[in-house]
Parts: sequence; structure tokens; C-alpha cells
Amino acid sequence: MNEKYYLEYPIEKKRFSKTDLKIVEILKEAGKKVGEIFAKQADGDFKGGGFYPTDATRKEIEEASKKEPKILDPYTVVKRDSSGKLCAVYYHEEYRDVLKEISDLFLKASKLASEKSFKKYLEIASKEFCHGDYSTLEKAWIAVDNKSFLHLMAGPLGSYADRLFSLKKAYNFNFTYTGTNGSYNPLNYVDVIRNMLPPFGSKARQNVSADMIKVRVDNVICIGGRNASLPARAVNYPEDINTIKKCGIKIVVYTNNIERRDGQMLLPLFRDFIELGVQKSFSDDFIMANAVRLVLAHEITEAIFQYEGAWKRLKSMSNPVMELHSSIVGIKACGFQVIKGVLSQKDLEAILYVMLMRTFSDYFIRKTAPQVENYLVGYRVFYNYCLENGAIKLDGDRILPNASKMYSCADQLANVVMHFYAEASEAEVQSFFDKYSSEYMYGYFSDKLLKYEF
Ligand SMILES: [Zn+2]
Repeated sequence: MNEKYYLEYPIEKKRFSKTDLKIVEILKEAGKKVGEIFAKQADGDFKGGGFYPTDATRKEIEEASKKEPKILDPYTVVKRDSSGKLCAVYYHEEYRDVLKEISDLFLKASKLASEKSFKKYLEIASKEFCHGDYSTLEKAWIAVDNKSFLHLMAGPLGSYADRLFSLKKAYNFNFTYTGTNGSYNPLNYVDVIRNMLPPFGSKARQNVSADMIKVRVDNVICIGGRNASLPARAVNYPEDINTIKKCGIKIVVYTNNIERRDGQMLLPLFRDFIELGVQKSFSDDFIMANAVRLVLAHEITEAIFQYEGAWKRLKSMSNPVMELHSSIVGIKACGFQVIKGVLSQKDLEAILYVMLMRTFSDYFIRKTAPQVENYLVGYRVFYNYCLENGAIKLDGDRILPNASKMYSCADQLANVVMHFYAEASEAEVQSFFDKYSSEYMYGYFSDKLLKYEF
């Protein structure tokens, strides 16, 4: 078993029925096997992962795909045939034996499951892991009722592992159960954020109504595949606008992954960097609850604000703009939540500090997961913008923040980034990011940063 690609968390056993515990044991086995498949896909140093032959160039692959479109299908492995020519094999053929084992485990679990929509999902997963119709699988995933205590998302999902074309989907397995903390009120955010859609965003997804957005705040049981090496704070699917119109959007927030990333990294950094007088009135739990809220606000913003054609217009700046937009507009929405009495002033303050400290916590993640730069660059923009406007001051080796000035910086930045996302060109965005994404802070705090080994 490749331990890099399978991760398990302790669960609150008392909350599981006997049958649930049986299902857990069966699906853990399935998760490990998904990790085995991903190990084949994640071929260490090679940019194309295990998806393409190591000696093939981008150009050769593109050329060959003109005659054989299957080569650039997200669900195939590209190989050389006996004559050295490039050809493609579907995942469900390439990994047939392991997929059959996983499929059997899904079927076994489905027979025990009592909640209808979850049972149905397992049945369909059992079928499609062998047949390869992933859109049917995705629809079954969206259809799983929020009332289902157990929840699973499995299949080839997300193209980050393919650094050659950002195309091939990698195997993932996220098995979770409903969290106990009911105080997050996700639907409340949906309402507020929908009302923030700008009038010029006529091409945004205004027509995704609140009842089409399902949000779960879950605890993770185990992770297999790509997410095991970089546990996701949340997932947000589908990507395809037509599927969204038909089936809606689903967001799952993974609380214990957030605890792992923000609790083990961000929290000690917060204590070490922020001025003592400011930080002493914030308990660890209070900061962590607001780290979850920031993720929630980010994901809901990302689900609601999507502009047709933004990818084509913003090109290399698409991901950085979208990620900064989701966080900063999410924070602006949290400000409205204070006015409504849903959040306290102090919650908002903590959310701003979480955003600020990610500049440092995710800097450590970049060393092993370079794709995190898509987010990190936006955190630096926020940090530098706050610094330039006096919302944070450097006081020796500590940061002295002024929360109300930070909020007004977030508000201004939200307006700028909303414009970027809705209508700006790649060049305009690039010059703004060039101005504000300086990495000066890592040099300034290098003595402190060198102490940590995350
Ligand atoms: Zn995001």
C-alpha cells in the first residue's frame, strides 16, 4: 500500500450505527485501492504524470491527437504501441482489475446502505467504475441527499496532476460523514452572496437559485488518491454549466482537512506573527471555526459567480483571479453577515486574520505542491494591499493589524477583483498582480519562517 496516497482520520464511533461501521470498513478498502490507481497516475517528476509516455513531447501528443482524438480524452492513458506510435487506452480498460475489485466493494456496501440516495450512488459507482460513464456518476453524486449521514465522492476528478495539459483526471476518493457543528448556516451565505452579483455580470450564473446549491459540512473518514497528498479544504462540482443548470451545484467542506492544514500550520504562525495584545482574545477554537467559515464563503462564492468565457479572456490569470475573487468576495459577504447579526464583529476579525496568515501557511505547502501558487499569489496581494494602505503595520518581528481598515481593504479589493473576473483582460490583471504579489514578506520574516518544518 502506498501510504502517500491513502489517509485515514479517527471517527466519532458513537455516532455510527453497527451497519454504518460495516460500510466504513468496506469502503476504507475501496479507498486504499483508489490510492493504488493514483500511484500509477502520479509519476513523480515527470510533468505528464503517468498519463503520457515519458519520452513524448507536448507537440508530438497534440499532433497524434489530430488523428486519434482519444489521446486528448480526459479519461485515457496515452501509450506507445509496438511500432512506437502513440495510442490511448481508457482508464476502465487500463486499470480493469483494480477497478473490478473496487466495484465489488461498492456493491457490497450498497447492499448494507439504507439511505436511498447514498445506496443509489454506490450502485452507480459500482457500475461506472467498470464502464466509465463519469457524468452519470457525477449526477448520482449531486443527487445524494444532504440528510445522508455517510457521503462519498469517488472517481477520476480534477486535472491538477496532469501538469503537461491540465487535462487528464486523476483518481480520487473522499469518504465523509455529517459534522456535528450545525452553527455554520451555509444557506444563509448562499442568500447573501447571490445578492452581491454585480449588475454588469449579466453573464454570471444568476439563474442558479438557492435551492439548487447543496452544501455539506463534513468530517473525513478517509481519503484515497490525489487528495491524500494534499487534503482539500473543500470540493465544489460540477464544472460544466449545463450540468449545473440541470442538476445544481454541490459543495462539501472537509472540516478535519481544514483542521489539519490550518490548525497545524496556520494557528502556530498566527500566535507567532500577530501582535500579542491583538491575538490574546482569540482562542484556537474560535480561529478554527472562522477558518471553516472562510472556506464556506469562498466555495459558495465560487459556485455562484462564474462568468462564461472568463477562461478564454483571462488565460494564465484565470485561476489566480478566480481564487482571490472567491476569498475576497466571500469576506465581503461575511461583512454583510455581521450586519444581519449572523456573525459577530469578532468572527469577521478572525476571518480576516485567517486570510492574512494563509500568506505564510500556504507558503510552506508550495514547496511540495506547486499548484497552491494559484491561491497563494492572491493571499500575497491581500497582504501587500493591506500593508500599502496601513491596515497592517510591521512592528519589529510582529504584525500589528487594524481589523476595520483590513475590512475596508478587503471591500476595495473585492470591487477590483469583481471587475477583473467579469470583464478585464489578461494583461490588465497581470499588471495589477505584478504590482501587489511581491514576496518581500518571506524575506522580512525569514528568521521566523526558518524555524518551522511543516
Ligand atoms: Zn476556490
